Amino acid sequence: MDGCILTPDGWIDGKLHFDTGTGRIGRIEGTPASPATPFAAAGRPRIVPGFIDLHVHGGGGADCMEGSAALRAMARLHAQHGTTSLLATTMTAPRAVLDVTLAELGRVCREAPGDGARVLGIHLEGPYINPARLGAQPDAAAVPVRDEVLHYLSLAPVRVVTLAPEIQGDLALIALLAERGIRVQLGHTVASYEQAVGALEHGAAGFTHLYNAMSPLLHRAPGAVGAALAHARFSEVIPDLLHVHPGAIRAALRAIPRLYCVTDGTAACGMPDGDYKLGSQTVNKCLGAVRLADGTLAGSTLTMDQALRNLVAIGLSLADASARVSRYPAEYLGLGERGNLVAGAFADIVILDADLAVAATYVEGRRVPA
Ligand SMILES: [Zn+2]
Repeated sequence: MDGCILTPDGWIDGKLHFDTGTGRIGRIEGTPASPATPFAAAGRPRIVPGFIDLHVHGGGGADCMEGSAALRAMARLHAQHGTTSLLATTMTAPRAVLDVTLAELGRVCREAPGDGARVLGIHLEGPYINPARLGAQPDAAAVPVRDEVLHYLSLAPVRVVTLAPEIQGDLALIALLAERGIRVQLGHTVASYEQAVGALEHGAAGFTHLYNAMSPLLHRAPGAVGAALAHARFSEVIPDLLHVHPGAIRAALRAIPRLYCVTDGTAACGMPDGDYKLGSQTVNKCLGAVRLADGTLAGSTLTMDQALRNLVAIGLSLADASARVSRYPAEYLGLGERGNLVAGAFADIVILDADLAVAATYVEGRRVPA
């Protein structure tokens, strides 16, 4: 394919070749392109790494708590918006529900991607969260028990766990999960600054939808947000410009070097206004937002291509915005073969037109049907 290619060393105007039959990038050839080059005027498509969404619940009318067919459907919808790999994100739910769901979703994680995004694993959002900061999570928050946690881990490849560190037993849980290479994120929490810093010292690695459903930064009580801004290297943020004010995103960009985007997308992504399922709850999509009946924001309708456009709209360069939807989430999970356009990496690629709309997506070298 031909165009302006975003590589780790900057833009190259040239050609990207697939390594036939392997799903990987063969070689990239061309000449360095100046960031000032007017790509649009030259009519050259921009070729960027596929997007990696580490927090997404649904899309295309499907919610992954409904099982494997729903997960495949949401992976298709998000691939059409440039997402080439994702973590299926579960809702807080009773053990009997999580048992069935994780076993179902675990099967899809072991499949080839088909015509959707690669499902890299599971993001367990709860159940070990604070019942005082549920956000849109149902009231099934629980205190962790070691055997139950190990049981969940045996059902599916869990890569990320969101928990509230102030819940009794969670510090020990953080250490246990971190030892197994699982990224522990603080979220749905009323943790004090000190409790959040304690969690980071026990191995927590990130923060879940920074600012939303967590103790805010007050100047004498810096809370979980203060701990994130003062200490985090990685954190999620939802850049739909409804969950977080652009000024708060800019503040986080100055403080957290590897701030990366997630959609927290729901079944309502890519769908008309109306009612949708979010786990066991019903949510309503209207004016680009998804809410519970009481008005609480309940996930989003965001897709990763819109996240990229929103970052550019608030002032980021396309290269910086791209890193925050592809390279940094890959780095966070230690995925050396994704998130960068380099020879030997998976051919996870998005082609953007002059308006930064997705013209084509390739997942491991296969073009996603429109
Ligand atoms: Zn979520």
